[in-house]
Amino acid sequence: MEPHDAVQAEILRAVGVLGSERVRAADARGRVTAASVVAGEDVPPFANSAMDGYALRAADTAGAHPDSPVHLAVSGALAAGRAPTVAVAAGHAIRIMTGAPIPEGADAVVMVEHTDSPGRPVEGATEVAVHRPARVGDHIRPAAGDLARGDEALAPGTWLRPAHLGVLASLAVTEVEVHRRPRVAVMSTGDELRDDHGPLAPGQIRDSNRPMLCALVAEAGGVPEDLGHAPDDEAEVVARLERATSDCDAVITSGGVSVGDYDVVKAVLDRMGVLRWWQIAIKPAKPLAFGMLGAVPVFGLPGNPVSSHVSFELFARPALLHMGGHRRIHRLAVEAVAGEAFRRRPDGRIHFVRVALEQSPGGAVARSAGGQGSNVLSAMAGADGLAVLPDGPGVDEGGRLVVLLLDGPPA
Ligand code: AMP
Ligand code: MG
Repeated sequence: MEPHDAVQAEILRAVGVLGSERVRAADARGRVTAASVVAGEDVPPFANSAMDGYALRAADTAGAHPDSPVHLAVSGALAAGRAPTVAVAAGHAIRIMTGAPIPEGADAVVMVEHTDSPGRPVEGATEVAVHRPARVGDHIRPAAGDLARGDEALAPGTWLRPAHLGVLASLAVTEVEVHRRPRVAVMSTGDELRDDHGPLAPGQIRDSNRPMLCALVAEAGGVPEDLGHAPDDEAEVVARLERATSDCDAVITSGGVSVGDYDVVKAVLDRMGVLRWWQIAIKPAKPLAFGMLGAVPVFGLPGNPVSSHVSFELFARPALLHMGGHRRIHRLAVEAVAGEAFRRRPDGRIHFVRVALEQSPGGAVARSAGGQGSNVLSAMAGADGLAVLPDGPGVDEGGRLVVLLLDGPPA
């Protein structure tokens, strides 16, 4: 059996990063930058006040105290959006609001709470009593304190989240170069599958993997192309694979990669001369077929629904993220306390146990999400993460577990 990280590494070596396209910044959420975004202007564009208060000269406030305040003449008021018209002279202050530009002559802002102003009408006030000394720079946000013109605002490979769109807007960037999303053909295989919602004939089951895998592709930033389900027929599988590779960036199949008599995906990839087939030292999702049809990776995932999901998690998802230009392609691993015993037997494999996580004062607590059979999709659906049980006897209640989070940011 092959260690799963060696298989991950081999797959990542085989797949390439896709090219790029320009999109409107407004449409860029979830995309991945393909080039640096360099700041074309300073953010903020001018020094401004971080507080509502008084812009003044720090030296004028030396020794100020509530019992012996410093009295300054108020020579004006400045709201956000206004340009200063008068400078602050010695012995003077200007009433200033958050975001307003710091006027000439001022080198500090005193919060309104540290003056006699709160509660007093500000309009027309001619004098202010300052209760605390200010230091130079107090409550002043310097020009370019966030980004300076010429700074790399976004590195290539940045996964664009809402704050990034705000950063782009702060720089007046309206278009951004992003990696193409991988187009991923998804096909299930198996004579037993039905997807027409009708009554099941003896021996038939419903195709649960395909909608699940299409959704997993979309969550990994890809665009799923639903190829339907193929019977366990080599010619049919070949025809679909050929169609898929002509207009997709990757193909994901489920079923037909074990050691059964009708495991056609494995047989077909073998005949096409591209097969890598592993028995991986994990449970679930032991078998995996993989091949490059030209530049198009084909992931032959096992058919058991939980195995399909876990195999996608461990092998297809990092590869799709890599193709889409992501730099962080693995799940975040967190430590959790075992809320119950997780028993297992040594078998040379790492077990990925479906767990639900709950917050407790001592940190996250993990409990089994339900039946751990590779067909029990309802427990997969209830899982927040995969607890990693190394080969051995398992973990006692209260012990420490490493859990791969099934959503959240890539690590
Ligand atoms: P296989 O990997 O083809 O040997 O399939 C393993 C198990 O998963 C069998 O019980 C299949 O019936 C089941 N299975 C395969 N494909 C699907 C699917 N698309 N949806 C639900 N179950 C499936
Ligand atoms: Mg099958």
